[in-house]
Amino acid sequence: MMKLLGVLPFARELLMKAVTEGDVVIDATAGKGNDTLFLSKLVSNTGKVYSFDIQEAAITATRKKLAENNQDSNVQLIHDGHEKLLNYLDQDDYENIAGAIFNLGYLPGSDKTVVTTPETTIKAIEHIIKHLKVEGILVLVVYHGHAEGKVEKDALIPFIRALPQEHFHVLEYQFTNQINNPPFIIAIEKRG
Ligand code: SAM
Repeated sequence: MMKLLGVLPFARELLMKAVTEGDVVIDATAGKGNDTLFLSKLVSNTGKVYSFDIQEAAITATRKKLAENNQDSNVQLIHDGHEKLLNYLDQDDYENIAGAIFNLGYLPGSDKTVVTTPETTIKAIEHIIKHLKVEGILVLVVYHGHAEGKVEKDALIPFIRALPQEHFHVLEYQFTNQINNPPFIIAIEKRG
């Protein structure tokens, strides 16, 4: 037990602060659909979730999870890369995204060679933060225990630390005394 929030509960806490009923949100890495389901409930029937994954198996698993929970009416499942967001984002949703989440790396229990990559992740972040509304929050859970994850982290850190302070609050949340490179959080909030 600990009083400090673990990385995954902290990610959800941030999303709950930024997102409410009726909002537009993005799950950039659907995987097994856990975050898509969470976001779908958070925005309720009047909101909208864009949920991306490049793996058919992830889209199928997410569709199944949503259906089992009767929570599929407000989710647009997109079998494509999150870096192509602008091909899918409705014009009505421009500059109106309240929250977004990325769980980087590979899908547990699946093909470990399919991983998020620095170029596409950064491209997607650039698109999303442009279209975040004021006080909207983008959360990244960064897994850097595998080789490609370390490369991705090393590209992400200078990028997010260089975001202009007058437009964004940028946070890193990390347990610093744990072994085996535990995941950490990057959060980016749009300023007014
Ligand atoms: N949040 C998920 C869950 O609750 O199960 C776990 C996501 S898993 C760590 C990362 C996912 O990102 C994988 O399913 C992978 O297929 C997907 N992915 C990799 N590159 C992608 C890209 N360019 N666009 C969208 N999804 C991508």
